[in-house]
Amino acid sequence: MKKAFWLVVALLAWASVGAPAGGQQPVRIFVSVDLEGIGGIGTGAMTSTSGKDYATSRRLVTAEVNTVVGEIFAHDPGAEILVNDSHGDHQNVLHTELDPRVIYIQGAIKPLGMVQGLDATFDGVIFLGYHAKAGDPDGFLAHTGTGSVKGLWLNGVEVGEGGMNAAFAGGHGVPVILAAGDSAAAAELGALLKTETVTTKTAETPASARLIHPERVHALLREGVRRSLARLQAGDYSPFDLGTPVRIRMRFASTTHVDILQSIPGMSKVDGFTVAYTAEDADEAYRLIRFMYRFVSS
Ligand SMILES: [Zn+2]
Repeated sequence: MKKAFWLVVALLAWASVGAPAGGQQPVRIFVSVDLEGIGGIGTGAMTSTSGKDYATSRRLVTAEVNTVVGEIFAHDPGAEILVNDSHGDHQNVLHTELDPRVIYIQGAIKPLGMVQGLDATFDGVIFLGYHAKAGDPDGFLAHTGTGSVKGLWLNGVEVGEGGMNAAFAGGHGVPVILAAGDSAAAAELGALLKTETVTTKTAETPASARLIHPERVHALLREGVRRSLARLQAGDYSPFDLGTPVRIRMRFASTTHVDILQSIPGMSKVDGFTVAYTAEDADEAYRLIRFMYRFVSS
């Protein structure tokens, strides 16, 4: 009798520490953090290490990450969260001010860039600070990868960074559960991925933004995380899976870039500005695309 009582006490104690109701595994969330779409950032200068108020941007991005992960931990104290810095030199978040419960990847020399560290063990992906794809007239600082890319299509679907990163996640069976950024990014990713979105600001012009105070952005993010976790728990997400193979079409600003890329076996030239390549799967496609815009210049 006594033995059974202590067993019950032990089970109750175990249930209250870490494991969420129902005895499920702790939720595993991957967070990719860009900078252009973070609330409170209204100029291009703020996204550049040498620009005015870049130090403020570092505080703003850190606060958005802490807001989002804080809400996840409130829902599941045992959550496992990996945060991948994903803008510029990938050294923007202030690590020492970050929620100590997360693991943080810093530095840009990594083959998988904005999705480095993401694999099939995760339950969901969150995009923070995202921007719209190259050429979107309603986007704030819209681009895809770098200024040298004018367009990117995967199996005929035009995507920006969010779509490309979602395709990598989808190839591993992981859905994007929340995407936050300017209004154009939120619209683009909400439509493409059928995911929850949070709008942090609206472009006034492609290089200026209509801002709301960071405290209001944080409230929207907390609500967004709550909606996302409820949908995740209900099994209401599908990974953005392009299947195999993945046909890449990529348009560049310079014909020289296209000519240099012909050094890659299997790469074809569609026209003076555009290359095409058929990758085995989303993983191979991702590595090649990142290599083409990040590490090949003209
Ligand atoms: Zn960026």
